[in-house]
Amino acid sequence: MSSQTTNHVFAFEEGDGKDKRLLGGKGANLCEMTQMGLNVPPGFVISTAACLEYLDSPERALPAGLMDAVHAQMRAVEKKTGKGFGDPDNPLLVSVRSGSAMSMPGMMDTILNLGLNEETLQGEIRATGDARFGYDAYRRFIQLFGKVALGVPDAAFDHELDEVKEAAHAKQDVDLSANDLKEVSERFLRVVEAHTGHPFPTDPYRQLEIAIKAVFNSWGGKRAVDYRKQFHITPEMANGTAVNVVTMVFGNRGDDSATGVAFTRNPGSGENKLYGEYLVNAQGEDVVAGIRTPKPISRLRAEMPEMAAQLDILREKLETHYREVQDFEFTIERGQLFCLQTRNGKMNAVAMVRTSVEMEREGLISKEEALLRIQPDLLEQMLFPRLDPTVKAEPVAQGLPASPGAAFGIAVFDADRAEQLGHELSQKVILVREETKPEDIHGFFAAEGILTSRGGKTSHAAVVARGMGKPCVAGAEGISVDVNRREARVGLTSFKEGDVITIDGTSGKVYLGAIPTVEPDFTPELDVLLGWADEMARLKVMANADTPEDARRARKYGAVGIGLARTERMFNDVQRLPIVIEMIVAETPETRQAALDKLLPLQRKDFRDLFEVMAPNPVTIRLLDPPIHEFLPDEHVLERELTDLRVLARTTRGMTVLAGAMGLLHSPDNVRQDVESLRRMVDPAIVEEAIAKKEAMLRKVRALYETNPMLGHRGVRLGITFPEIYQMQIRAILEAAAECTKAGIEVHPQIKVPQVCTAQELRLVKSFVDTIHDEVTETYGQPVNFKFGTMIEVVRACMRAESLAEEAEFFSFGTNDLTQATFSFSREDAENKFLPLYNQSGILQDNPFEVLDVKGVGKLMQLAVDWGRSVKPNLHVGICGEHGGHPASIAFCHQAGLDYVSCSGPRVPVARLAAAHAALNAAR
Ligand code: ADP
Ligand code: MG
Ligand code: MG
Repeated sequence: MSSQTTNHVFAFEEGDGKDKRLLGGKGANLCEMTQMGLNVPPGFVISTAACLEYLDSPERALPAGLMDAVHAQMRAVEKKTGKGFGDPDNPLLVSVRSGSAMSMPGMMDTILNLGLNEETLQGEIRATGDARFGYDAYRRFIQLFGKVALGVPDAAFDHELDEVKEAAHAKQDVDLSANDLKEVSERFLRVVEAHTGHPFPTDPYRQLEIAIKAVFNSWGGKRAVDYRKQFHITPEMANGTAVNVVTMVFGNRGDDSATGVAFTRNPGSGENKLYGEYLVNAQGEDVVAGIRTPKPISRLRAEMPEMAAQLDILREKLETHYREVQDFEFTIERGQLFCLQTRNGKMNAVAMVRTSVEMEREGLISKEEALLRIQPDLLEQMLFPRLDPTVKAEPVAQGLPASPGAAFGIAVFDADRAEQLGHELSQKVILVREETKPEDIHGFFAAEGILTSRGGKTSHAAVVARGMGKPCVAGAEGISVDVNRREARVGLTSFKEGDVITIDGTSGKVYLGAIPTVEPDFTPELDVLLGWADEMARLKVMANADTPEDARRARKYGAVGIGLARTERMFNDVQRLPIVIEMIVAETPETRQAALDKLLPLQRKDFRDLFEVMAPNPVTIRLLDPPIHEFLPDEHVLERELTDLRVLARTTRGMTVLAGAMGLLHSPDNVRQDVESLRRMVDPAIVEEAIAKKEAMLRKVRALYETNPMLGHRGVRLGITFPEIYQMQIRAILEAAAECTKAGIEVHPQIKVPQVCTAQELRLVKSFVDTIHDEVTETYGQPVNFKFGTMIEVVRACMRAESLAEEAEFFSFGTNDLTQATFSFSREDAENKFLPLYNQSGILQDNPFEVLDVKGVGKLMQLAVDWGRSVKPNLHVGICGEHGGHPASIAFCHQAGLDYVSCSGPRVPVARLAAAHAALNAAR
């Protein structure tokens, strides 16, 4: 045995529990638990390095000497267990289990009961005195080994099993007798031989070698590859799977045996209480597969109090050691508890937040750790919709609340259909299955939620849905699913594919039809956690909000101000639009002023409302930004209307002539009245007037036409060519502030100017502000405190940051426009035409409109910050684009020395946590 190959194989007593890359998560933890003194069945790990060597070898050959090392390890296991591998008198059986550095639940394969053949089977039966148990283990082994290692389809086995069950009048597997199972195993052996052309391998070491290779191969299988792609698991994160060879322990040795999975705390609510499910007299797979619906762990206290007490001790040990909620597998064999696996528990956001806060209070982790263990994006889940409580509806079925949140959509009964309807046709779908399997994964991605009629809260459907943050109702046994007819029966009613249903994964209820959903509220724990985040963060989090409702919500989410209020949204209101249009089409300053005079009080009210909601926090108002023709009707629509009007004008004239000629005007009363009213409606004078108006509008629209509005007459350029517009807005802001101050409300308005590229522009607008401020001070008898600053969204503005800083008290990066300007990409054209290809082919890593381009745009920002601060050290700097709510971009903003980020209201909690992460990670 060369020293190189021994490095591939590690007994649980010797493997490094921290080295998940080498040993896989499962293997590393089996080592760790063994070394902690927990009751883990003896075994060893074959490393991921061996897997990679195997997969890279031309003939798919195991590394030289590997099987020798395995033999040596098996001899050690034989010693520890007192059993012999292949020994008919006292057979050792093992499981061969996959496990990579990243947990990929159910994606790769595991084989149980390996080492069985006709002789060892008889030995096992003699040793246990239980023939039924022996044949049950045997037929499971043949099926698993046949499927995983030899590629025999499950259906071939299921068919035989069903036949035997039918002949034996057995409803469930447990109803089968020893003889029935013997029959099953014999049939299974024939199935394997028929499919492979070879007899089932009987030599235990050959079985072991084939199984090891099969597990290695499963790393490259389609299921696993798809999964890694979907979850962006790169080779840096996990490369290859380890193989764990573990002495079998049996939860199916009778009523004093059981198997289960548990979380040290509730992964749905975070409650500090053992949570899980178990089955008496069953093997591990039965729980996960959802074949029998398991019992909640609380029942174990009544059924096996001694075992429940031992589980409590195990739970305690796991948590104190890992300082993290654990998701573990256990088996009880004739009153003895074994731990077969542990890993950090995947939890939804509610549970993550609650456990963070509680584990800190219990002294298990620090505040920093409490914050860092939660990915900021996860918090979005807490803002997940729930069913509108005001809508009264009767559920048609009750299942288990397996993954919280609510959703409605059309029922779809298989994963392919779900993908087709959900992804390709963009329909909202609910995937409805009896139970789900790893190969249904693509259906999960496409679905709003998942409903199963079988399985528990740790079934495949539940685990995967929770990981994805999608609602799931599992084990709704009142529903009987008929996949072939694409239909499900519930009591007396039924629903078919395409019928809308609603599921509530928080309560487990299922409804027919669509029930609207509403925004949820903060939990008290989230408040505490985000309070800690605010303490740790340097960046302040503000919100983009245009209306008082937006502002109120942003405030509820913890925004400490408004970083961007867009005034154009206020213009688009149905009542105001006509006045805005009046202002735009005005031919003289006087008529324009008349329209603006009507707008002033409306804007003043808008701002006052915002100030009141946010008081005493700052409210940053951006002066009008978009090109004004955006408020005018479309040119082509106008042209069509004009054509119609002209036809109408001609017809009207014609009709008058015609009516006279036909003497209709002297007809009986009713006819005459009709003609009269028609003539009034299409009075030529009115039509002519309408035509004149439309023509004027069309002329205006054409005059304002721009080839490239994005780079056109907008922002401060408008403010300079039509000073009255900006002056009205500035007046509205300052007067609203003065009114508030008078009313005893503390306000901090900030006026910001968009699209600035030179200090001259800023100086000019500043002069309006100063003049108007003087007037307002005069009128209201007191000055208003305000700040004046600029958007930085033009490349030249970055380059001229020093001179802009002389005029501005703050800089606010508009990274959407700045990204467009830096790349010379128009966002919509880029996203619709070439960006996807750029991303796919790796020319660009990310969409720069979603993930801030640190190298280019970020560089410009950094220059602008540094140059600006060189002139004005206390220059206040922030960002108000979409990027302001994106964790990686927030980390950059922290490094670049920004003071705040501003993002949409619902992203505020995410941004607060991300800001804390940025500070904590920078300090590490
Ligand atoms: P997965 O990664 O899909 O969970 P596992 O390797 O954990 O696969 O094994 C599948 C099931 O078999 C689990 O329920 C596990 O507890 C059970 N199992 C694995 N090894 C043994 C063993 N040596 N004895 C008893 N049950 C086992
Ligand atoms: Mg497992
Ligand atoms: Mg902009």
